[in-house]
Amino acid sequence: SSPQARANPIRLPPGISAEVFQTFTQRAAAICGDENVVIISNSDELNHESYLDPSKCHDMYHVLEDDYFISSAVITPRGVPDVQDMMRLCNEFSVPVWPFSIGRNVGYGGAAPRVPGSIGLDLGKHMNKVLDINVDGAFALLEPGITFLDLHEHLVKNNLRDKLWVDVPDLGGGSVIGNTIERGVGYTPYGDHWMMHCGMEVVLPDGSLIRTGMGALPNPKADPSRPPHEQDACETWQLFNYGFGPYNDGIFSQSSLGIVVKMGIWLMANPGGYQSYLITFPKDEDLHQILEVIRPLRVGMVLQNVPTLRHVLLDAAVHGNKKSYTDSTKPLTDVEIDEIAKKIGLGRWNLHGALYGPAPIRDAMWGVVKQSFSSIPGAKFYFPEDMPDNLVLQTRHLTLQGIPSTTELKWVDWLDNGAHLFFSPISKVSGDDGVAQYKMTRTRCEEFGFDFIGTFVVGMREMHHIVCLVFDRKDPDSRRRAHKLIATLIDDGAKNGWGEYRTHLAYMDQIAATYNFNDNAQMKLNEKIKNALDPKGILAPGKNGVWPKTFDAESFKV
Ligand code: ADP
Repeated sequence: SSPQARANPIRLPPGISAEVFQTFTQRAAAICGDENVVIISNSDELNHESYLDPSKCHDMYHVLEDDYFISSAVITPRGVPDVQDMMRLCNEFSVPVWPFSIGRNVGYGGAAPRVPGSIGLDLGKHMNKVLDINVDGAFALLEPGITFLDLHEHLVKNNLRDKLWVDVPDLGGGSVIGNTIERGVGYTPYGDHWMMHCGMEVVLPDGSLIRTGMGALPNPKADPSRPPHEQDACETWQLFNYGFGPYNDGIFSQSSLGIVVKMGIWLMANPGGYQSYLITFPKDEDLHQILEVIRPLRVGMVLQNVPTLRHVLLDAAVHGNKKSYTDSTKPLTDVEIDEIAKKIGLGRWNLHGALYGPAPIRDAMWGVVKQSFSSIPGAKFYFPEDMPDNLVLQTRHLTLQGIPSTTELKWVDWLDNGAHLFFSPISKVSGDDGVAQYKMTRTRCEEFGFDFIGTFVVGMREMHHIVCLVFDRKDPDSRRRAHKLIATLIDDGAKNGWGEYRTHLAYMDQIAATYNFNDNAQMKLNEKIKNALDPKGILAPGKNGVWPKTFDAESFKV
């Protein structure tokens, strides 16, 4: 065994002695190769603090101590058979394992596991191929290591951008598979990534391999002498999501029931024309009317993409840190926020959207959009060329046509040593609901000493209200306040009938407990499925609040 394999980790997996851990890592090295087993044995491993070079073993944006959500070892399988063998090994040793694709899940825990000392299974490092781009069917088949940036560059390199576009989130460095199965969103008409996925290949907790949907139907031309993961798939695998019988894909999203090793995703056909726009609204109180105007336009698909209504401080934070605007360390007052809006030439609320299609279509849509929002006094309309220095508008112009960037990372630097957490409740697209959520979240943010920074992301029928809480990760008091604030907001939200769509590791239990209709009936079902598919409870225990029977959830409370 290598010297590395003999080091002791900062945290052992729960219930595993140092000796057993040695044996386990030696066996893991025999499966994946010595060089692919890295034990997290000293705090040098915790120095990766940048999105561009993210930590693979702990939460860079830690709201608890930086060595709580941490892996004992990070193992990088070289292919599907290594993943399958690792699952068998983890079962044999009862060692919990936390899969991730890239680990840029920032604001939600990064690459870190829910259970301290789990094995981090880094799928993206070696499994990083675009397996197929199909132009006629407008889809891609990907491995976990393909980021939005990789996929976009692949299209560019192969001269396919004139045919196909990717839908990208605000930051383009994450894994397409990781983001999609976490139900992340982007901003083109294909913004609901989960809706646009089609067909998955999944390793189950016992190491067996399945293909979902049409993938369960073998391709008659496939070579049966090849291992299943290498066999040609059914030609409609990426064309029809549902196949036959119960639709299983859902249990592999935000879940601890499988490791996704291949996934299909629909790409958007180049619409043949594009125009992004910004509409600014001067007053804080405009929020109500803006949302009332948005709803029918979005439901009717006149707003073709996933538009975002951003609070001015989100854009301000991309342009400069808090110190660049004020000496105040307190939450900014309305007067101060108005001054900032004036300084950067924006409204209190700013809507970013886009028009898709040839000019006659865009012109017709723009006419309706402009007329509808003109009912709000003081609304102003801009195209990117009208504001060449508006970094956010210039970036959104790229994002909304599927060109990834990392520019919007900048808002995290609003405070020194900036880290962020998201509070992301689902809201009705209605003035009353939006205003009530804004009031509640802003009041609480200020009560805990933070500025409200947020955005409403308008889906097909609802809004993801994303509150971007920036805190100073090197200041224990700032961390404590941030932690308490999110926990308080979750309770506040549930009392109003608002639930979150996704969360950081530290809040999974609390949010899961709010989805408790009919005596926790859904959680009982989730637990039943978990215990049936993963009797030893080794795959991502505690993920999204689902604890296997082999774990004492109480002892992992945070
Ligand atoms: P990002 O795409 O933002 O870099 P990650 O790779 O960190 O995201 O993945 C986010 C979360 O999604 C992980 O913590 C894990 O729970 C889950 N996940 C990511 N990739 C996979 C996968 N291939 N199979 C199963 N779960 C995964």
